[in-house]
Parts: sequence; structure tokens; C-alpha cells
Amino acid sequence: PRLANQIAAGEVVERPASVIKELVENSVDAGAKQLDVEIENGGVKLMRVRDNGCGIGKNDLPLALSRHATSKIYHLDDLEAVGTLGFRGEALASISSVARLKLTSNDGQQDTAWCAQAEGRDMEAELSPAAHPQGTTVEVRDLFFNTPARRKFLRTEKTEYSRIEDILKRIALSRFELGFSLKNNGKVVHNWRPANSLAEQERRVAQICGPAFMENAVHVDINRTGLRLWGWVALPTFSRSQADLQHFYVNGRAIKDRLVAHAVKQAYQDVLYHGRHPAYVLYLELDPANVDVNVHPTKHEVRFRDGRLVHDFLFSSLHKALADVRP
Ligand code: ADP
Ligand code: MG
Repeated sequence: PRLANQIAAGEVVERPASVIKELVENSVDAGAKQLDVEIENGGVKLMRVRDNGCGIGKNDLPLALSRHATSKIYHLDDLEAVGTLGFRGEALASISSVARLKLTSNDGQQDTAWCAQAEGRDMEAELSPAAHPQGTTVEVRDLFFNTPARRKFLRTEKTEYSRIEDILKRIALSRFELGFSLKNNGKVVHNWRPANSLAEQERRVAQICGPAFMENAVHVDINRTGLRLWGWVALPTFSRSQADLQHFYVNGRAIKDRLVAHAVKQAYQDVLYHGRHPAYVLYLELDPANVDVNVHPTKHEVRFRDGRLVHDFLFSSLHKALADVRP
């Protein structure tokens, strides 16, 4: 309970895309190499995420659905160095309280896979044997069937679907080594193969951010005193009419952070172009002990132990990389 209290309970299920985020992050945490996502009717009718990760054993299935049950944190100290994407143990419980949830999993240690179903709040999960290769499939149907007020807040199917697509793109950009597929209303929309070499990574970035981004991008990879910054920054020759393309990841987690945005923008505008927003896909890697990811439940914000050091590193690294290729 102390741990549970200190991990602030956040509302994780706002819309279909937030469900997809939680499910996909669970699959990533489970060490899956391939993730297949299926959507019907903007996610409201059906969302299905299948992975080939470690799976969940029969005895742990009901636990996975109960609130504040996480297999990812054992001590409060672990919060200091959370390496997994999820750690609050509330996503599946929250989802199952507002939808019909079916969890089928095989941990590779049993004769058969097992399936648990939960529907609405306070329902006991019942277990039945099932067929499933090692890994997990989570199926979420009829989102908000028991909370019509929340259902009313949803936008059109098309809008909800495109938010799901954005979430998946954001995660696929952070896990090149994993394969992802996305099916919408029965049709395969994306199939991103695992990308290990730089060329394969650049192909995925082009698939996700558009070929024009990649054609105009500078590859950056700078390592200094325990900090590494790598990724791609587009030169001013890349013009984009849509919303800004700015992806920043800290230790594999997508974040939006003012300090980071400021450092990148300063470097970009200093070297290249005043009054224009840079487009980038960048990755910062640092010792997890030097960054606090537990600032906000939706986990988009971070707090660096030494913000100034990070700002200076980002600014000077990018400044140099961009100055080297100044047109
Ligand atoms: P959290 O991710 O914060 O631990 P969740 O409610 O998202 O909490 O998941 C609860 C638990 O269920 C996880 O800690 C994990 O043990 C298990 N779990 C959920 N999804 C998967 C999956 N796809 N593969 C393996 N285990 C899973
Ligand atoms: Mg989770």
C-alpha cells in the first residue's frame, strides 16, 4: 500500500489510443520481438495486441488484472531506476473496468495457454484453457460500454484511429529491433520489419516520418561522458506543412520536455535557420539513475538530475553536428 500510494494513480484510459499505448508498452516490457495490432471501428469495437514475449503463467493471469499488481517493481528503490515502460500495475485493471477484456497467454512452461476474461468493474476473472504460442494476446472490446458519458467524448472513428496510428509510430521509432504490424478494419496498414542496421533504421524512419524527412536529414551520433545523443535532424531544405515532426526519446521513452525542446531549437536556430521549428527524431541515452521518469502518470515528462548538463550536452552536440553540414 505504501508503494501503491507513492505511485500516484493516474487515469490511463482516456481513449482507444491510450489503451493501445499501455498494451503495446506491456508487450515491449515482456521482451516481445514481434507485435501485431488490430483495430476495428477506431478501436471502440475492438483492439487486439498480440506479442511473442515472455507470456504470463496461469497463476499470474488473475494477478495481471488486479490493481497495483506489477511484476516490474519489487522495492521502492526500483522507482529510481525504472527500466521498463510500465511500473504502476494499473493499466490492465483500469482497462478491464471500462471494457470487455480478454487476456490469453502462454509462458512456454505449461501444456496449454490460459485465458482470463474480465468485464466491467469488480468482476472476477475466470480462467479457461486456450491455444496460443508463447506470448500474449490482449483483446479489448466495446470500450466504455459501461461508461456512456466517456464514450460520448470520443471523436470520429477516423480521428481515434489516427491517434492509435500516431502512438504506434512513436513506439516503433523507439524500438527499431522489434517488428510491428497494424491492421485496421481487416486491412494491413503498416508492417515495419525489425531494423538493426543503420540503413534499416533509416528505412523505418522514412516509412514513419516520410521519405522527404529522411532525404533531408543529418545523422547524428555523439557520445560524451556517459551521455549519448543519436538520431536525425532535418535540414531547412525539409519543409513540412503539417504539424511539427519532433520526436525525442530518453532511454527509449517518448517525452515532451521544455528543456530538451529548448536545447534542440537553440542549436538548430543558431546554426541554420532563425524562426523555424526543427524537425527531428532524436534519442538521448543516459544512466537511468540520472533521470526521474515518475514525474507524471502519462510519463511524457522527465526530470533530469542535472538539467543544465543535459541541456549543454544537447546544445553543443547538435550545434557541432549541424555546423559540420551547414549548407
Ligand atoms: P504494469 O505494466 O505497470 O506492471 P499493467 O497493468 O500494464 O501494469 O500489467 C500488469 C502486469 O501484467 C505486468 O506487470 C506484467 O506482469 C503482466 N503483463 C501485462 N501485459 C503483458 C504482456 N503482454 N506480456 C507479459 N506480461 C504482461
Ligand atoms: Mg503496463
